[in-house]
Amino acid sequence: EAKVQRGNTVRLFDPSMQAAVSARARLVADLKEALPQDQLRLYLQPQFNAEGQVVGAEALLRWQHPGRGLVAPGQFIAVAEESELIVPIGRWVLATACEMLGRWQEQPHLRDVCLSVNVSARQFRQPDFAAQVAQCLDDAGARPHLLELELTESLVLENVVESIAKMHQLRTRGVRFAVDDFGTGYSSLAYLTRLPLHRLKIDRSFVLHLGERSSDDVVVQTILGMARNLELDVIAEGVETQQQRDFLGAHGCSTYQGYLFARPMPVEQFEEWMRARPAAAAP
Ligand code: C2E
Ligand code: MG
Ligand code: MG
Ligand code: MG
Repeated sequence: EAKVQRGNTVRLFDPSMQAAVSARARLVADLKEALPQDQLRLYLQPQFNAEGQVVGAEALLRWQHPGRGLVAPGQFIAVAEESELIVPIGRWVLATACEMLGRWQEQPHLRDVCLSVNVSARQFRQPDFAAQVAQCLDDAGARPHLLELELTESLVLENVVESIAKMHQLRTRGVRFAVDDFGTGYSSLAYLTRLPLHRLKIDRSFVLHLGERSSDDVVVQTILGMARNLELDVIAEGVETQQQRDFLGAHGCSTYQGYLFARPMPVEQFEEWMRARPAAAAP
């Protein structure tokens, strides 16, 4: 129910909307405390090559809130973006990830593990983004080629020229770039050849029905063929079944991530799991 006030102003009195607005305001207020109260955590989900060796891990953010419990990014990243809280949060993620890479250098079973970090649009758009990343790597003494930044198609395409310049700054240092959720965005392929990319990450939504839905089979085969021609690596996300894994393998996918292999886990658990793992165990 909307009531017209003086002039052209329209005021909303819908109670459910009112409730949603105040729930959101509480979320923002709580989220402001997340960093100062040390409530953010990184979880790690392993990435496997065709031989079943762990070659990398994706850092996935969690928010450990005293009342809300463990909150998944789907419930707060969008709000963090809109409120600009994503800037300090994203900076924390990068610094924490680089510290981890630095620490892993001392440990033989972890020293060659790559770390993929998700970067949000607002974070990437900061003029000093490349300098921030470089600083984090230097402070932590981390090897840059072990850091992969995951960007989305829409983020990159928002300002292609600026994106390319930023990516090149970091690429010359050795930092790698992946397109996350590949296939779900604008699907403008021309830009792919212009970006200093290392790999494409096939979106989970295409993996879900592999071998059962011919349209998804075609999309995935096309992405894999295209990546081969462009000499890009490909990682599939959300691999849950052996059937999906076999389809991907048969069509040239090189790297896998998903519940079939391992779920995201707290950092200490990942480190322990890697320690206990035989060097070349097949899943
Ligand atoms: P994403 O980058 O596409 O990450 C993959 C998501 O799929 C993760 O969800 C992961 O837990 C989930 N996943 C992995 N394997 C499977 C599987 O086999 N089956 C199913 N059903 N799901 C699987 P999560 O951790 O909830 O993260 C959701 C999204 O939040 C991420 O999607 C990413 O876009 C965003 N995100 C996570 N961490 C960060 C961060 O540090 N910064 C930013 N800006 N965004 C983040
Ligand atoms: Mg990702
Ligand atoms: Mg993804
Ligand atoms: Mg995804």
